[in-house]
Amino acid sequence: MSRRLSALAERLDAPLLVTNLTNVFYLTGFESSNAALLVDPDGTATLYTDFRYIESARDVPGVQVQPAKRGLMQDVGERLQGSVQFEADVLPYGEWERLKAGGAKLVPTHGLVDEVRAVKDDEEIAKLRRSATIADRGLEALTAETWIGRSERELAWRLRELLHAHGADELSFDSIVASGENGAKPHGHPTDKIVERGTLVTVDWGVRVDGYCSDCTRTFSTGRLPDRLREAYDVCLEAQQRACANIKAGLTGVEADALARDPITDAGFGENFGHGLGHGVGLAIHEAPRLSTESTDTLVAGQCVTIEPGIYLPGVGGVRIEDLAIVRDDGVELLTSFPKELIEVS
Ligand code: ZN
Ligand code: ZN
Repeated sequence: MSRRLSALAERLDAPLLVTNLTNVFYLTGFESSNAALLVDPDGTATLYTDFRYIESARDVPGVQVQPAKRGLMQDVGERLQGSVQFEADVLPYGEWERLKAGGAKLVPTHGLVDEVRAVKDDEEIAKLRRSATIADRGLEALTAETWIGRSERELAWRLRELLHAHGADELSFDSIVASGENGAKPHGHPTDKIVERGTLVTVDWGVRVDGYCSDCTRTFSTGRLPDRLREAYDVCLEAQQRACANIKAGLTGVEADALARDPITDAGFGENFGHGLGHGVGLAIHEAPRLSTESTDTLVAGQCVTIEPGIYLPGVGGVRIEDLAIVRDDGVELLTSFPKELIEVS
């Protein structure tokens, strides 16, 4: 039995039907658009998939393969008996109805596989590190070019080319390039706005390599800044560095968030930092754990998280600085290494 399946089985007191396809991939290495994996508390795993994927399913070690109809949930539901747990956060209501029609007693669960998945092994960390390094190099190449006078969209598209040239399989999400007052929208899409002199430009970008995502943000200046933006940058950077220096295993997501939030609030920008400090990253760009005022997580060594405070000044501009880090017992190991002091692009 694989380490991942046994780690999951240890947490089970009844069979779990895994329907999140990323979780199925994580547990078995099997990739498809239509599958479910039934994991028993003793670690026995049954993989259901339809005709299109059945041959590749037979190559998956350590699972019993059961061919199923294209309407998978109905078919699997008819074969289940007794109490079966399911992933309540990802199973659509219609699929739940079809599964339930078979008569099994469905018991909702939350985040069982996600908790296991949050802690990365050495092989996963190596892939995350490679992903972060390729992303760093792509952005470095972009900073050697002219930004002022080009549109946000053009820069985002050029960054995409450079990331592919440096070895990215794909982007882990659409890059954000937000200049001037657009920087005040944390997740604004690049627009036709031309990058102007004397403001901040936020770039939030990441790539996927061997399935694993990276996520990083840097904010650049295009010349002499208004005092308020310069102050926001310095406060954000200090808060980000404070969080990087103090986050470690055993802290709660709320405590980690406060490491950056407290100095931002003390500097008078509390209202301008409206999102959480960070999130887990792995096969998905957003996964467990969460670092925020609402988090219920406690950090565990081996988790991969972002550390990304931001300060957003409506009508003026914004700054966000984000690193990707592995949580260790005595601190964090940063995977992103792009410089964080304010860099001026031309
Ligand atoms: Zn990001
Ligand atoms: Zn992020």
